[in-house]
Amino acid sequence: MTPSPDRVEGALLGLACGDALGVPYEFGAAPLAASEAPRMIGGGLGPYEPGEWSDDTQMAAVIARVAADRGLADEAALDAVVEGWVGWLRDGASDVGTQTRHVLGAVAARSGAPRPAERARAAAQELHRRTGRTAGNGSLMRTAPVALAFLDDRDALTVHARAVSDLTHPDPLAGDACVLWCHAIRVAVVEATMPALEDLVGEVPTPRRDAWAGWIADAGRRPPADFAPNGYVVTALQAAWSAVLHPRGGGAPPVASLTAAVHAGDDTDTVAAIAGALLGARWGASSLPEEWVAAVHGWPGLRSADLRDLARRVAGLA
Ligand SMILES: [Mg+2]
Repeated sequence: MTPSPDRVEGALLGLACGDALGVPYEFGAAPLAASEAPRMIGGGLGPYEPGEWSDDTQMAAVIARVAADRGLADEAALDAVVEGWVGWLRDGASDVGTQTRHVLGAVAARSGAPRPAERARAAAQELHRRTGRTAGNGSLMRTAPVALAFLDDRDALTVHARAVSDLTHPDPLAGDACVLWCHAIRVAVVEATMPALEDLVGEVPTPRRDAWAGWIADAGRRPPADFAPNGYVVTALQAAWSAVLHPRGGGAPPVASLTAAVHAGDDTDTVAAIAGALLGARWGASSLPEEWVAAVHGWPGLRSADLRDLARRVAGLA
């Protein structure tokens, strides 16, 4: 069955809208009263223009371009993703997570053998050995294009969601989160339903399934703000999932859930970007407010129409 172009486009456009909506409020950069709806006013850590997206969508755009041009299924694709990110770090990065900067900086400092993806994994694993901490939310925030690249192949999606995560985030929990979220996006696009995330834990390795089931259930019981700080990939996923399940204020599902995501506080753009990809995949690009769609833009010189085109190409619909 051919997936709906509206939901395919929604995955990337929802990501971008969540990102741009959360940017102004990242780490409390702008005040947001409890009764207030977040707005794409720019500022934040960039500073960003109103409607401008940040590193979350920027890094996802690199993955999407490689996926659209040549697919993501082999090591050469991962090399192209890493090369794209190194170019982004050099030319376009407006803000960069600590872990991602460390890994890409190490890749950029050397050339030749081994190839870029291997250098990235080696740098990431060295960081993991040294600090024991590589489970930041930086691979989950950019994972949505991987789901679009494997809508017709669940097993391949499991493998490649982790492979793209591992380029910078070797902690198994970061890979698990990307696998879970990609499968949720896949189900939302293909079946036009919001999946029960707990039904997808069979996609992660057996020893960690019970832990994930518990974390997901916890997110179902508590509001998004209970999962701040959310720089850790587990709490970022919990905050995003809680926002999907606990909309705030009025409006269509993406609007109310993204409002809830931004009100979670802390890493607001990333939590809203994660939630936005899944919400857009479920409800479609047509569910996003026209003023958001008109406003969003960012590196590498893209606007909504470009993201729609990119999403369709990644999913093989173009
Ligand atoms: Mg960001």
